[in-house]
Amino acid sequence: MIGRNNDDDRVVFFDVDDTLLDTSTFAQTARKAAIGLMVDNGLPLDKDEAYGVLKTIIRKKGSNYGKHFNVLTQVVLGREDPMLVALGMITYHNVKMALLKPFAETIDSLIYLKSQGYRLAVISNGITIKQWEKLVRLNIYSFFDEVITSEEVGAKKPDKIIYDVALRKMKGVPDKSVMIGNKFREDALGAVNAGMGAILVNSDITEEDREYIKKEQLDITIAESIGDINTIL
Ligand SMILES: [Mg+2]
Repeated sequence: MIGRNNDDDRVVFFDVDDTLLDTSTFAQTARKAAIGLMVDNGLPLDKDEAYGVLKTIIRKKGSNYGKHFNVLTQVVLGREDPMLVALGMITYHNVKMALLKPFAETIDSLIYLKSQGYRLAVISNGITIKQWEKLVRLNIYSFFDEVITSEEVGAKKPDKIIYDVALRKMKGVPDKSVMIGNKFREDALGAVNAGMGAILVNSDITEEDREYIKKEQLDITIAESIGDINTIL
């Protein structure tokens, strides 16, 4: 995919959630803990039901919406319950912070890529400060030169625009650069459309997707985990 040389126009772009850290698992655990406490303190549903309602709200409003627990009490009680909202929010944040850590091999892989002369950046469908906040909390922020987000660009992965902006910002040469992410469409197809290579980690890739990669001879490599990057780059 990318030869080893000393050029500095080689950029490795990373997705954040479920690529550098196990966002889905810790978010689910934190939400369940929050629901548990809200139900124990008077939200009149059983915990599975309440979690189901919360998931529906998150699906409708998006994960970056800041008032999921407010809406939950409105839906269940017909009015906002500030005490329950506060319990939910605080429990969610505390559990999330306690669990937040990178995948076991993330830091080794970042060190490896830097040792090979790659420059690193993030391309994320998300909010710029929130994504920097994750990198800071994980103590991996100093590996990355830039965080390019859909919030800033006004276009989401897999839109080619966000990849073009990221390449321009990093002065990266497309065919010497690579995107690493967990989503076939957003991360891999988006990057390939912008002329870059892609590596999928922890992906939910289907048989059809694999066939499509083969048929179209796309520059997409499927890795088991982020720890396999050093066998590819
Ligand atoms: Mg992701």
